[in-house]
Amino acid sequence: MSRFAVQGGHVITHARSVLKDHYVIVEDSTISAITADLPPDITSVLGGPQDIVMPGLINTHTHAPMTLFRGMADDLPLMTWLQDYIFPAEAKHVNRDFVYVGSLLAAWEMTRSGTTAFCDGYFYEDEVGRAAKEVGIRAWIGEGILQFPTPSLKDPKRTIDHNRSFIERWKDDRLVRPTVFPHAAYTCTPAILSAAYALAEEYDLAFQIHLSETASEVEQVRRDHSMSPVELLDSLGCLSERTLAAHCVVLSEAEIDLLAKRKVSVSHNAESNMKLASGIAPVPRMIEAGVNVSVGTDGCASNNNLDIISEISTVAKLHKITCMDPTVLDECTALAMVTRNGARALGFAGGVLEPGRPADITVLDGKAPNMVPVHNPVSHVIYAATGGNVKDVVIDGKVVVKDYRSLTVDEDALIRECRSIQQHISRG
Ligand SMILES: [Zn+2]
Repeated sequence: MSRFAVQGGHVITHARSVLKDHYVIVEDSTISAITADLPPDITSVLGGPQDIVMPGLINTHTHAPMTLFRGMADDLPLMTWLQDYIFPAEAKHVNRDFVYVGSLLAAWEMTRSGTTAFCDGYFYEDEVGRAAKEVGIRAWIGEGILQFPTPSLKDPKRTIDHNRSFIERWKDDRLVRPTVFPHAAYTCTPAILSAAYALAEEYDLAFQIHLSETASEVEQVRRDHSMSPVELLDSLGCLSERTLAAHCVVLSEAEIDLLAKRKVSVSHNAESNMKLASGIAPVPRMIEAGVNVSVGTDGCASNNNLDIISEISTVAKLHKITCMDPTVLDECTALAMVTRNGARALGFAGGVLEPGRPADITVLDGKAPNMVPVHNPVSHVIYAATGGNVKDVVIDGKVVVKDYRSLTVDEDALIRECRSIQQHISRG
């Protein structure tokens, strides 16, 4: 049995509870106790008396392999960016090896910046799962379902069968969970959406989808189906507690109430929406209506990093300015979005430090200049820290990052591989 302690000058057990000078005791994959005194038989201690210990952070919307497209096409509207740059680059370069290396890079970046679980959707997602397991990060993965040929499936008529075999391969894994991921209401026919949702129900999995990301998407779905994307999904019975809807930028008041009523979780992707000028999701209104709002970075081609601490800092400030009210989205609400709410969106027991919960723990360096002094550690997580302050990370009871070094990634070899793929992309 593995047994060790994680020490913090401040231990944030959840957004509204901070313990001073405590140890989180990890036994195998679980938190066994949180105590003020170090049990005498424990000799292995991570963290330190000045550090901030908190639940591992959860990123609920990513496209991990796209990390290799970081910085390839910037400053463009969503449809131009997608159709003139991303789709052609994907058609040309995305294969199993690209997805595997890109996902290793993403998992390395995420673990180094404090993320312990992420929800991903792309193609060749088996490779995302393989990379996640290798790095030791928890992942919810979804093989993209579209009405068009994709890099991993030439015949769209086979998309549901293709997904079924994908789910069968992953359904019993403890670290990587399959999901069902139809890309969006404008890229899937109603028949495909219904079949995808039935598949999620059959295997009791999360159903993730891009929803109402831009005004043009909403107009296109209205033109094709005489309904908004939210109305279309609801008419097909695709909105429920298992639905994780990414973006939700363009919503009416009635649609917000409907998402709350159907218990849909939302992944808010503020920086991606800002960068593509898609708009600002009505997050304070969704929270007020009772929607479970979590946070995602989206893919690196539209962010351009996977630093969830920087993302939540942006989120907390963005909505203050849209509401012209500094009390909106306070630090506790913001912290819950990247911990407990993310866990709830994925049906996961983490997001809180408590005996019996999964041992997913992030440690921030209390000796970094931007972390001194500590009046309020939750404030530091939201307003002072960046992912660069993450010192140690434990996932599923295993130390994945220690003293800023990844223990599971050959960092130099990975950088070399990523550079070689970048050179290949540059040659066209
Ligand atoms: Zn996305």
